Amino acid sequence: MQRSSYRIVSYKIRHDYNVGEFLNSYKHLLQKAIDDIWDNMEWVEKKQRNYYVIKRGKRKIRKHYYVKRLIPIIPKSREFKRALRSQLLEDWNYASHYVDSAIKTAYSILNSWRRNYIKGKRGRNKPVVKRKFVRVKETLYRFRDGKITITIKPRQFYLEFDLSKAWFKNRIKGCDLGELILKESELIITFRKPLGEEKVSECIGWDLNLFSMDGFSPRYGWIRVDLRYLYHIHRVHEVKRRRVQSKASKKSSLKTIVSKHGEREKNRARDYIHKLTTQLSKMFPNAVHGFEDLDKQGMRNRSKKHNRDVAKQNWKQIIQYMSYKSRVKLVDPKNTSSTCPACGGRMMKLRGGQVVRCEKCGLTLDRQLCGAINIYLKMCGFPPSPSTFYRVVIRKMIPQWKVRMRGGRGVTTNGGKDDDMPPMNPRGGPNLMNPQGLHRLTKAYVS
Ligand SMILES: [Zn+2]
Repeated sequence: MQRSSYRIVSYKIRHDYNVGEFLNSYKHLLQKAIDDIWDNMEWVEKKQRNYYVIKRGKRKIRKHYYVKRLIPIIPKSREFKRALRSQLLEDWNYASHYVDSAIKTAYSILNSWRRNYIKGKRGRNKPVVKRKFVRVKETLYRFRDGKITITIKPRQFYLEFDLSKAWFKNRIKGCDLGELILKESELIITFRKPLGEEKVSECIGWDLNLFSMDGFSPRYGWIRVDLRYLYHIHRVHEVKRRRVQSKASKKSSLKTIVSKHGEREKNRARDYIHKLTTQLSKMFPNAVHGFEDLDKQGMRNRSKKHNRDVAKQNWKQIIQYMSYKSRVKLVDPKNTSSTCPACGGRMMKLRGGQVVRCEKCGLTLDRQLCGAINIYLKMCGFPPSPSTFYRVVIRKMIPQWKVRMRGGRGVTTNGGKDDDMPPMNPRGGPNLMNPQGLHRLTKAYVS
């Protein structure tokens, strides 16, 4: 996702070849490979330290205890793989390279199962292949004169795809062709796009919130993108869902409507996020975008849990889509919204939490902006220090904010009186994003 010198892009082509039987056989082959590896796994008993938390007054105490767990060891020796290969080849009627592809896929499925099992996210059940797909390695297709030819059965059965007519042909000039994924009615083609020529000249730190996405970079200052429309999508569907759900409990035919609503909600959100990220990557073509690593993030705010869960899904999607279109760097989310970017002190919430102020130096900032600045500093590797803060944040933003420094009082805007100042919002409240006219979306505050 980050720190690679190329980017993977993929495109779909629809086809109407009759490959159902082939895909079915491959599915069985893959399952057989998984079964075989599974049956040869060793389970080793290990002691693991675990804990639970008890509250004593205001303090939380961890109580440790030990559990015995079975840890699987996946057979990886060359002899085992060779035996597996020859066994799978016995009743395989297509090109033998598919057996290698199946073995590789089986290992990656089992490895990811094992990782999750150790984390406690998966049980001790064997993974089952449900989807019909084949990964086509580079040895199984030929790319010549804009045409991809895939071997299914040597000298008997080939598939041909003409890329010279595809809509994306101009986008893939100079790209290397990567792995193909064959499905029943489409072919997914991946390309490696070299990033060498793209110049990266600036970093933007982004703080994701329920209603807005706040960015900071010394060049653009505070960039605020309105996400209320995204919130609105979920609200509308929640109301609808609740209305149908109460009826659905009595009538089973309505249950499909409930799940349809969920689909539609997801599609609308996905569509919005795609447009949003495309626009952001066009607005800041040379930027590296920094986000919090959400997998490492505990729930920051336990209230309104449901809303935050939904929003977190969206945030993950925003980061994921952003990484397809731009460079993305993830930073440790620890204390990004509660640390003073200037001195490293603790930020206290003022006025219902929208504004925060440093206990130590008195710096007062909008909470979201504070998060964005901290993410920016983290992605550049700057620890909080007054001189860095002055250099990268204040000096560049004086013309925008008309910031003034006062002895011991820290930073306030001109309009602010001492400690109780309005959030540093350069041009008033954010605009509600208009889904049709996306150009209005990034009436973000860029100057
Ligand atoms: Zn401070």
